[in-house]
Amino acid sequence: MISPDDKPLAIRRKSRQIHVGSVAVGGDAPISIQTMTTTPTSDVEATLAQIYEAAANGADIVRCTCNDEAAAEGLAHIVPRSPVPIVADVHFHFEMAMAALEAGVACLRLNPGNLRKPSEIKTIASEARDRNVPIRIGVNAGSLHKDLYSKYGGATPEALVESALMELKLFEEVGFDNVKISVKASDVALMIKAYRLLAEVTDHPLHLGVTEAGPPPAGLVKATAGIATLLAEGIGDTLRYSLTADPIEEVRAGRQLLEALGLRERKGLDLIACPSCGRAEIDVIGVAKTAQEALEKLNLPIQVAVMGCVVNGPGEARGADLGIAAGKSRGHLFIKGKIVRVVPEDQMVQALVEEAERLMEQGVEARLALADENAARLASEDRQALLGEKGQDVNHSLTKIENIKKRISKPKSDN
Ligand code: SF4
Repeated sequence: MISPDDKPLAIRRKSRQIHVGSVAVGGDAPISIQTMTTTPTSDVEATLAQIYEAAANGADIVRCTCNDEAAAEGLAHIVPRSPVPIVADVHFHFEMAMAALEAGVACLRLNPGNLRKPSEIKTIASEARDRNVPIRIGVNAGSLHKDLYSKYGGATPEALVESALMELKLFEEVGFDNVKISVKASDVALMIKAYRLLAEVTDHPLHLGVTEAGPPPAGLVKATAGIATLLAEGIGDTLRYSLTADPIEEVRAGRQLLEALGLRERKGLDLIACPSCGRAEIDVIGVAKTAQEALEKLNLPIQVAVMGCVVNGPGEARGADLGIAAGKSRGHLFIKGKIVRVVPEDQMVQALVEEAERLMEQGVEARLALADENAARLASEDRQALLGEKGQDVNHSLTKIENIKKRISKPKSDN
């Protein structure tokens, strides 16, 4: 990698740092990659599968829509099982923002163009402040506040920036500044000018994107033109490619751009691990660390998952090439989500290393064909035993859902 002194990029703009769950955004934190799920958030398993696949491909943060009560309830299940922090995308509905906070999301995205009542915005910001949850002010040229549209005669860079600053002012009135900002447009030149202007007037971290860039390859070119120009000027702390495509393509594009600019390191091993939750049967952090150290030595381009339980692990990480999930004092080795072998708990890492080598030599189909025929049955036994012991609601998702229902039936607005 070239040294920082040799980089043909401007020095990065100094922004304050915020934290979206475990991911630092702004300051000297690596520029993070985001995407958004395309499944209904109420479909918990399909959404988690997409989140895990996005994480396996390099997503640091994933956004899910929170557009109705079922979506908010879905978030209550998704958040504790997601390997990356979850941002709730909220438009129009004040109560959806409150419900998403209740569900435990790591960040909210609010659109000032369609969630407009100052009293509601301040109520959301107060609750986010009390929960220490950041908010992205997500201005979008296509849904700009109509007063600003009239004032500036259109969605100009100045109008986009003013929209963001108006929202920021409302937040400041309730002592909330845990904020990142985006001023996206589908017009690349407009988006570039808006971000340049914004970068001069605030030190909040900036989330870059060309909205509705469209399908690849044209969408990729447009998004890259906007995002790369700003990054080269030192502007931007996190980004999303908004493509009309699978979220995985968005993540790969973000990753490739950052690697091409020398802003993120190239990947060999891609180890993902579940965040661990009430279901975990092992010390996920410890096992993941040991596995990372052992697997890195192999220098193989492979995605490996370390999952805390066999109840959900193999399904959640089915996008990974290989993984291990903990059961009743034993590990369940899986390839592309299919259980192939059961090993004693203290041999989990060794089993991963051996299987990684064989998988790279022989290929997925050959290794699946050699799966132990008892493995699936043993996994099923462990799954049932764990469900029997711990029940269905170890993450207290049902309690959160009760609270969401209360929030939605009695919105806490001072209007
Ligand atoms: S312990 Fe199980 S349910 Fe919890 S996050 Fe890990 S794999 Fe998912």
